[in-house]
Amino acid sequence: MNLILFGPPMTGKGTQAEFISEYLHINHLSTGNMFRGLAEENDKEGLMAKGYWGKGDLVPDSLTIKLLKKEINKEKYKKGFVLDGFPRTLNQAKELKKIARIDKVINIVSGDDTIIKRTVLRRLCSNCQKIYGTNLQPKKQGICDKCGGKLIQRQDDTEEIIKNRLKIYREQTEPVINFYKKEGLLSNINGEQLPEKVFKDIKKAINDGKNN
Ligand code: AMP
Repeated sequence: MNLILFGPPMTGKGTQAEFISEYLHINHLSTGNMFRGLAEENDKEGLMAKGYWGKGDLVPDSLTIKLLKKEINKEKYKKGFVLDGFPRTLNQAKELKKIARIDKVINIVSGDDTIIKRTVLRRLCSNCQKIYGTNLQPKKQGICDKCGGKLIQRQDDTEEIIKNRLKIYREQTEPVINFYKKEGLLSNINGEQLPEKVFKDIKKAINDGKNN
């Protein structure tokens, strides 16, 4: 199954993508993780992308689509994938349609106030990337429960940057929702619930095949 996980930043897409990936035995492809990984490796295009995501701006379509195509062609996505963070523009959605069949689009819906609060409280393990925040606090402050790694705040997790990201989302990314609605692939899920309940609703949408 090839699935897209959609929704504004900080709606728990990363967490839900991990749940789905385990449930359907498919790999998680996050373009945000892809960009951060490339920048950490000092990859030339990764560093170019960082100039945009570091400010909360979208990485230009040409670069994003080029890197996505390279990534999605890897063997590990042949059985299926859960895409998180892509497509973010109508152009990206159209390009994706040319290279992959999409079976389902899950749209996680959440209000701006919840999103801003979640952003400033989010922490990330610098070692294993596990996410902590309003719903999950580490047992020991600043230390990852899973691997003992140091917890850090993402450079783009500030109030100013999240407001910019939300503005961009409403302007550029929401039209993509209509694209998938027209294709009959969209399921809306309430993201203002505990992660377990959100996942329960996602499983129902996957299994019922019902869209709204
Ligand atoms: P994320 O981890 O999905 O929140 O992505 C982090 C940042 O990477 C975003 O704020 C964007 O700047 C950039 N990014 C990720 N995916 C895309 C995409 N599909 N198109 C353009 N920029 C992206």
